[in-house]
Amino acid sequence: MFLKVENATTRFGGLVANDNVNIEVSKGEIVGLIGPNGAGKSTMFKSINGFNRLSSGEIYFKNKRITKMETYKICKMGITCTFQHAQLFQGITLEESVLLGAYNRRKTKKEALKFAHQMIDFVGLSDKKDYRVSKLNMFERKKAELAAAMATEPELLLLDELFAGLVPTEVDSFVELVRKVNKQLGISILIVEHVLKAIMSLSNKVYVLEYGKIIAHGSPAEVTTNPTVIKAYLGG
Ligand code: ADP
Ligand code: MG
Repeated sequence: MFLKVENATTRFGGLVANDNVNIEVSKGEIVGLIGPNGAGKSTMFKSINGFNRLSSGEIYFKNKRITKMETYKICKMGITCTFQHAQLFQGITLEESVLLGAYNRRKTKKEALKFAHQMIDFVGLSDKKDYRVSKLNMFERKKAELAAAMATEPELLLLDELFAGLVPTEVDSFVELVRKVNKQLGISILIVEHVLKAIMSLSNKVYVLEYGKIIAHGSPAEVTTNPTVIKAYLGG
């Protein structure tokens, strides 16, 4: 299995943020993770990425145990996250931001710069590469975040509410961009998003979290017609 989260539980004091969570992602898939605010989605991502320590359970990536491994090692193995509320450094340029990611795997500055330029081009921001991040609008900043994450050359990309703050037309165009990352670069994606239409159109498979527990999983069609999900989350 490419990514396997097995009985993952995370406690913060008395609060159980993730309760026996099981998630599987196959290579090449886009998998969605949805659920109300506070359901434990970001906690799950932080556990996969090594920012949080699981209270119990295991996480495997490419059949290797990564539970409790340090973040930089997990990144070297091929998992990169864009975080909810995370921000690129405002004072440096778009090119410099993406270059920071590219140094992860490239030995020389020349190689890193070449790869950074490819990723900036991929998200369609070549004409803005010398702009300071603070001068980019929200849409451009989100694309810059994606380019910086891709510059680390992940095999699995974790996207945490990357579409938040975008207007519907921008969301549509971002959906296409994420699809392109998956199809053209072959990067597997685990995505948390509140825009259900977007996540349902992108994902091969969707997991639904509520109060830290997975209450349903399946194809987008299965999940959106599941009575438990409708009651808990979709407000039917
Ligand atoms: P979601 O991303 O689904 O909105 P989170 O994973 O951010 O949910 O949070 C799940 C629950 O865990 C929330 O009740 C939140 O307040 C709590 N929580 C998250 N991180 C911490 C932390 N570092 N310390 C204490 N409580 C936390
Ligand atoms: Mg969150």
